[in-house]
Amino acid sequence: VFTAATVAAAPEDPLFGLMKAYREDPSDKKVDLGIGAYRDNNAKPWILPVVKKADDAIHNDPSLNHEYLSIGGLADFTSAAQKLIVGADSPAIREKRICSLQTISGTGAVHLGGLFLAKFHPQKPAIYLSNPTWANHNQIFTNVGLSLAKYPYFSVKTKGLDFEGMIAALQAAPNGSVILLHACAHNPTGVDPTQDQWKQIATLMRERSHFPFFDTAYQGFASGDLVRDSWAIRYFVEQGFELCVAQSFAKNFGLYGERTGAFHFVSAPGPDAATSSAHIASQLAILQRSEISNPPAYGARIASRVLNDATLFKEWEDDLRTMSGRIQEMRTGLRQRLEAKGTPGSWEHITSQIGMFSFTGLSEEQVLTLRSKWHVYMTKNGRISMAGLNTNNIDYFAEAVDSVVR
Ligand code: PMP
Repeated sequence: VFTAATVAAAPEDPLFGLMKAYREDPSDKKVDLGIGAYRDNNAKPWILPVVKKADDAIHNDPSLNHEYLSIGGLADFTSAAQKLIVGADSPAIREKRICSLQTISGTGAVHLGGLFLAKFHPQKPAIYLSNPTWANHNQIFTNVGLSLAKYPYFSVKTKGLDFEGMIAALQAAPNGSVILLHACAHNPTGVDPTQDQWKQIATLMRERSHFPFFDTAYQGFASGDLVRDSWAIRYFVEQGFELCVAQSFAKNFGLYGERTGAFHFVSAPGPDAATSSAHIASQLAILQRSEISNPPAYGARIASRVLNDATLFKEWEDDLRTMSGRIQEMRTGLRQRLEAKGTPGSWEHITSQIGMFSFTGLSEEQVLTLRSKWHVYMTKNGRISMAGLNTNNIDYFAEAVDSVVR
């Protein structure tokens, strides 16, 4: 029988434990490089000015109320989210072969996509995840009953992409496998394929009839350029792939707590594409209904205002450049400092990696020494959140790294 006593304690979430240890550390030198959220130069959360503007407008809009959204979410939001991903002039939109639902941020979009594949893919396939990947991918796909497989991704030697390993694994995967791809700013490594490598990945995936499942959580946040950060997805769509996309607006709008995201399914071009797309939309709506009934309105209203207004959109692009620019400055600054100190090893990867995170190559032992001796907090795999660095702590951090590496 089921009783409360039959439930064993779950292991503590490692990131949660790290954050707790940071909070409880009384040192005034402490540095938080674990957090996966943007921080300004004073280590404070940043409300994007354009989000503040849209938020104020919503507060003063007498036409808004607190009714439910529809099952698929706010239509103005999902249509703008589509355009942002594939480009406003994409044939996929014109030919009505992309269907989109608003979700509980990127996590909810990954989950809805996983659930859909688990139910409708005739083979109940394994999903291929990069090694390493965002830890939650493992749990989300396991929860919906998909089995997991891995493809090599990060080369410990070069601290860049293990392209040969990745290609060999995709080549060896059974025909028609589902491959999860990070669209840009790979979490946790910060390592992305080049455009030429993406083309080779696409060619191979086409040959093997693999199904791409894109996860995009950092569009515009990575390079500061929304088009550039969606290049891989747009290329696959142009190549006529059938694919899906889990899209988060947590990072690029700073709407972490508002849970704003979308799930898109793009059908391959063809005479029946619009019909298939409508069928898929109807099935996704049933899944969504049973999971969340309908998505939350607030964040979608904010994003929708910005995405659908040319002036606000431009201001948003400025805000994206502010965030990505500050992070890039921290990358350059850290590399310069380590090189100036002659810290053993190569630090080129700090600037070739992109986005919120960097895989530093520091060992678990070095990470633990940084924590105990220097009050610097990062995950045990050596990942740092670049957003945790600022002009007040970067010298201290470089000194700390130098000391543990020597
Ligand atoms: N996918 C990846 C790769 C991520 O890094 C994140 C954010 N940590 C997400 C999805 C989803 O985040 P959220 O649910 O907050 O949008």
